[in-house]
Amino acid sequence: MLKTRNCGELRLTDAGRTVTLAGWLARRRDHGGLIFIDLRDRSGLVQVTADPTFADSYAAAERARSEYVLQVTGRVRPRPEGMVNPNLESGEIEVLAESIVLLNASRTPPIPLDDDGYKTDEITRLKYRYLDLRRERLQRNVILRHRTIKFMRDYLDRRGFLEIETPMLIKSTPEGARDYVVPSRLQHGKFYALPQSPQQLKQLLMVAGFEKYFQIARCMRDEDLRGDRQPEFTQLDLEMSFAGRDDILEVVEGLVTELVPAVVPHKRLFSPFPVMSYAEAMARYGTDKPDLRFGMEIVDVSAAVKGSDLGLVADALASGGSVKCIVAPGCASWSRRELDNLVELARAAGAKNLGTLGWTAGGLKGSLARQLRPEEAQEIARLCGAGEGDLACVVADKAAAACRALGALRLELRDRLRLAPPDLLAFGWVVDFPMFEWDEAEGRWNFMHHPFTSPKAEHLDLLESDPGKVMSEAYDLVCNGYELSSGSIRIHRRDVQERIFKCLGYGEEEVRERFGHMLDAFEYGAPPHGGMAPGVDRLVMLLADEPNIREVIAFPKTASAADVMFDAPSELEPRHLRELHIRVAE
Ligand code: ASP
Repeated sequence: MLKTRNCGELRLTDAGRTVTLAGWLARRRDHGGLIFIDLRDRSGLVQVTADPTFADSYAAAERARSEYVLQVTGRVRPRPEGMVNPNLESGEIEVLAESIVLLNASRTPPIPLDDDGYKTDEITRLKYRYLDLRRERLQRNVILRHRTIKFMRDYLDRRGFLEIETPMLIKSTPEGARDYVVPSRLQHGKFYALPQSPQQLKQLLMVAGFEKYFQIARCMRDEDLRGDRQPEFTQLDLEMSFAGRDDILEVVEGLVTELVPAVVPHKRLFSPFPVMSYAEAMARYGTDKPDLRFGMEIVDVSAAVKGSDLGLVADALASGGSVKCIVAPGCASWSRRELDNLVELARAAGAKNLGTLGWTAGGLKGSLARQLRPEEAQEIARLCGAGEGDLACVVADKAAAACRALGALRLELRDRLRLAPPDLLAFGWVVDFPMFEWDEAEGRWNFMHHPFTSPKAEHLDLLESDPGKVMSEAYDLVCNGYELSSGSIRIHRRDVQERIFKCLGYGEEEVRERFGHMLDAFEYGAPPHGGMAPGVDRLVMLLADEPNIREVIAFPKTASAADVMFDAPSELEPRHLRELHIRVAE
């Protein structure tokens, strides 16, 4: 090795030792007579001092610039009194350079590397990702990701799971996105699809008798990159035979509960994770991925205003809707502008309107203050536990629409009022999802999870007669307002699987062509099985306190699914296209 020690690990106990270090010049301060260099490697920084008594080393230090690669040999010594840097782990010592070798030079980096990078244009960061990754924050994230994945592997190995790889060149696996496809050179006009997940393969591994499988699986989904998504991402994909829902939740909850203190000991979590049904999550939080770090639950206050002659309220109640409300603590005296802003937000989230009611020392405030009878306002306060200083945000609409709008408002208030403790990871389970959702655009039922999810046994009879009422054996792991993972108990019988395909409107021919192998496999003693697939990127993002998953992926893509460093996707040479029997249309 070109070095005997790592920069960031040197401590006072090393004083007196001669060490050889190798790394990058992070900063250089020329004090005329003495040159200080912060030398950086993966382990962190150490201060190197070049003194003219070592003339060659001093001359090298004079020539060195940012991001030059240096090999430094010298003696570790305590820093003089008053020069200790408490912000640096190696801040009590420095290395007096006896020799400095310039291993390589560097052009001036196009982006600053000594900050956290948030202020630098992201496209430039991604173009020079190999430099961007040198910054401490990203190094930390990549290392945390490694530790997380290592922990997963060890944990699942201890619990009897086998890591089994599955192919990338396969056939469409529906997970609700478009497939990325790869043309076949050997079979004219045919294409592989890259896996949207290894779903079918892991189920076939259960048929094959492996009983407990996992994989750190790369998944490819061609979808518009709304929000924080990536066209390729990583899941901890797992599957178990002879397991019921609670067995699978227990494995994953155990994993997460042990992982957090092991890799991010400064974070807190609640154990055991709360379990709620989809219906309950929608009613209490207006979303199926609730942020459980704070309360502010949605309360039904229909009973308080059932006699009201207020137009919107009366209309909503008369047409079977409800009146729902959340309470923003301490916001009763918000200005008119702030309240108008909330109304706009609620409307943007689909509510017809939003009424506000604030309890102040000077009496009731807000748009409902004069519209409600005093006893109605009082009853609302009682139902939702509001007191002086609080502001009730009230929506009268169809229950689902009211909850959805208040759910969005709840998240906005979370951010404005800083209601979510930053060190808390609030995991929870959402269970009992509907099997299907109605697809307006296509005019048919679509799967809510994926087509291999089992309906609840007691709802099998409803499959053809009332698909909207069928509940599935699906479950989600949520954390801090994100869906971290979906999973389900699967169908393992051919007849049931065929009925589901039929409900989804797949023709017989299509089913045989796309899923014949699954249906056949189910006829050879397929065991009952189920599993799930926590998203590794999103989990590491939450562990690392990052605002988006790109910060925890070494080489992410842009919002238009491009790799700006490789300049991918790119055109193919005509020769290559000919080989693949492909002609690109104008
Ligand atoms: N394949 C599913 C997904 O990608 C996960 C699972 O059901 O295990 O969401």
